[in-house]
Amino acid sequence: MPLPRIMNALTQAPPPPPAPGASHRTHPQNTGQPLQTPPAEHSLVIDELLADIAATIQPEAARKGLEIIVEPSHIDQPLIGDATRLSLALLDYAGKAVLATGRGRIRLRCHILEKAWNRMLLRFEVADNAVAPGLAITRDFAELLGGTAGAFSVSGTGNTLWFTTWLRIDGAPSAGHDAEDHLLRLHAGKQVLIVEDDLLNQEVARDLLGAVELVSEVANNGLEALEMSRSRRFDLILMDVQMPLMDGLEATRQIRMTSLNRDTPIVAMTANSFDDDRRRCGDAGMDAFLSKPVEPDTLYATLLACLNSRA
Ligand code: MN
Repeated sequence: MPLPRIMNALTQAPPPPPAPGASHRTHPQNTGQPLQTPPAEHSLVIDELLADIAATIQPEAARKGLEIIVEPSHIDQPLIGDATRLSLALLDYAGKAVLATGRGRIRLRCHILEKAWNRMLLRFEVADNAVAPGLAITRDFAELLGGTAGAFSVSGTGNTLWFTTWLRIDGAPSAGHDAEDHLLRLHAGKQVLIVEDDLLNQEVARDLLGAVELVSEVANNGLEALEMSRSRRFDLILMDVQMPLMDGLEATRQIRMTSLNRDTPIVAMTANSFDDDRRRCGDAGMDAFLSKPVEPDTLYATLLACLNSRA
């Protein structure tokens, strides 16, 4: 779903019907937060964030006799992330849990799933002990945060709503890695088709894409790429130009005639970086052009620009 449409859906959708006597405070739509603003980076401390959420839902929870428990995260380092969207996502979940739970308690928790030198993947959870299972979750928030989301219920025990997101560790060096950070935050999990006949180049491209959490598939030549692009949609295609069986120019022309990938950004990779080659790639329907050997920072900047243009 394109970002602007998610934004509209989130800002314009009517709030879910409140339980009798419920305050509107727990609905993110009514918090007056500037959802339309681009992601803003804030320094945040996980336990403080969870405590803020608990305080926000406290009045409504207290009215229903619910206990709110914030489990210590044991994450002491300050992190950098979009605190506004993070709060909205948690409020959305916590608000739903308050509405669904008749009595008992609601737990807020966060733990580390993965840790890299400059960032960590966190899983936030809101668990209740509502008897009725099946809370609907809002994946839009998690997608905006570059993560995934889900829910599970154990009959008679309660529901757990969760989402994951990567946050940067405050103070970790990140100079020159802005494009990588943005790719991770905005486009992790997107599907990229690498079309390349050289095995070593395939490997390098896979590694570079994997480092920013892009999911890649490989086609060994233009013909394979054409076949794959007929059965599934990709978010981006990296296209070598010189290949056996069908070259990148012809493959691009043909892919542009398929329905699934008519608009998919196609980025040329070629050893010839003359203006003439760029023009031929453009004429064939490619959106951008990278010279080989592909330099990581240039690749990431190009991927980011192309993926953003589709958002
Ligand atoms: Mn080649």
